[in-house]
Amino acid sequence: MKTADAIIIGGGILGTAAGYYLAREGFEVILLEKEYLCAGSTGRCIGGVRQQFVTSTTIKVAMESVRLFSTMKDEMGVDVEWYQGGYLFLAHSEERKKEYLTAIALQKRMGLDVDFISASEIREIVPCLNLDGVLGAAYCPSDGQVNPFLVTKAYADGIKSLGGKILLGTEAIQIRGSDSRVTSVVTHTDEEYSAPIVVNAAGPSAKEVGRMAGVELLCEPERHEALVTERSEPLFDPMIVDYRADGCYFIQHKPTNQFIGCYTPYPRIGGPRVDSSIEFIKEMPRRMLRLLPCLKEVKIIRQWAGSYTMTPDGSPIVGSTSLDGFLVAVGMSGHGLMLGPALGKLLAELVASDRPSIPLDEFAYGREFRTGEVLK
Ligand SMILES: Cc1cc2nc3c(=O)[nH]c(=O)nc-3n(C[C@H](O)[C@H](O)[C@H](O)COP(=O)(O)OP(=O)(O)OC[C@H]3O[C@@H](n4cnc5c(N)ncnc54)[C@H](O)[C@@H]3O)c2cc1C
Repeated sequence: MKTADAIIIGGGILGTAAGYYLAREGFEVILLEKEYLCAGSTGRCIGGVRQQFVTSTTIKVAMESVRLFSTMKDEMGVDVEWYQGGYLFLAHSEERKKEYLTAIALQKRMGLDVDFISASEIREIVPCLNLDGVLGAAYCPSDGQVNPFLVTKAYADGIKSLGGKILLGTEAIQIRGSDSRVTSVVTHTDEEYSAPIVVNAAGPSAKEVGRMAGVELLCEPERHEALVTERSEPLFDPMIVDYRADGCYFIQHKPTNQFIGCYTPYPRIGGPRVDSSIEFIKEMPRRMLRLLPCLKEVKIIRQWAGSYTMTPDGSPIVGSTSLDGFLVAVGMSGHGLMLGPALGKLLAELVASDRPSIPLDEFAYGREFRTGEVLK
């Protein structure tokens, strides 16, 4: 049997970030990934990073992630294409405007550089935007975008340079314990790795991995689709978010000026499927063109799908569970890339000192899931 201080299951943003910060705390880490790095949701996301949330813990965690993205180049020597172009949440109704104003009041109290801006101010930021019916927007210029592949690789390389191991093509199939403590993980090749700490960072498969340890997790995958266009001229900086029922959100990827975007389907599409649909490829351009008619000649070059792993209250589940030593960083509810760096660091602090620098009670495994994140 091989031994480590901590075994991580999952090679997405959460697993690699948690592994890196644990290794930095001095833990010998083994990360098991059943396919390859970014094979799950992380390699399928659109790269948006925002701090505009409505619960105080999520705002703090997102602000900490932004700090970590901003210092990644200095700390790890890797350019992860971090770009602070902002997020613009358009308000097309009084109700939405009120919701944004309430959120902004809390975000400002927490030190976030956010404001509700007028239609004419929006025009200065995104000159070609169709402002019909727009009452204003919540705008935070320090939100941004980042390359999920580069961030995950930077963390994985960091684990290796700190003496840890990344085992690709290695599926965890069994989690063993004794006296209500986790003891080891068995892989599909029947190898057993023992450690006092095991972290479930299995994204959409989190529930199945939890069940291997006898830990029931309230999170379910949901299918979300995305597309990317050919390169274009630079037109605007922020992620544009239109939360109308038939809205969408998209960003202009800075290094290439391609547009990348998605929308949340109604009704929601539960389950682990990640196939693409004809509905999406017909509907998404219509929604984008309604906001930005100037994109009419820009061609789509690819579509794909991935999973949001949703919890009942839309906030992640991070920390200890009913099995001692078995921790989770799951249920990211569509925000794993932006929250991942800070949550990985906080999880490592929890393991190392039992005192994460941002208390994680709001994300506790045993919470009641009554209130939660509504900006999604
Ligand atoms: C279309 C789309 C757009 C998105 N846009 C954004 C965005 O702009 N910003 C943002 O913050 N988030 C976004 N998200 C959400 C984001 O992608 C996820 O929240 C995040 O990637 C979750 O990361 P993770 O590490 O938890 O999971 P994953 O990236 O899914 O990683 C889990 C890994 O675990 C592995 N695994 C599973 N079971 C096992 C096992 N038994 N043994 C070993 N390995 C196992 C999987 O192969 C996988 O690689 C988007 C998602 C989608 C689908």
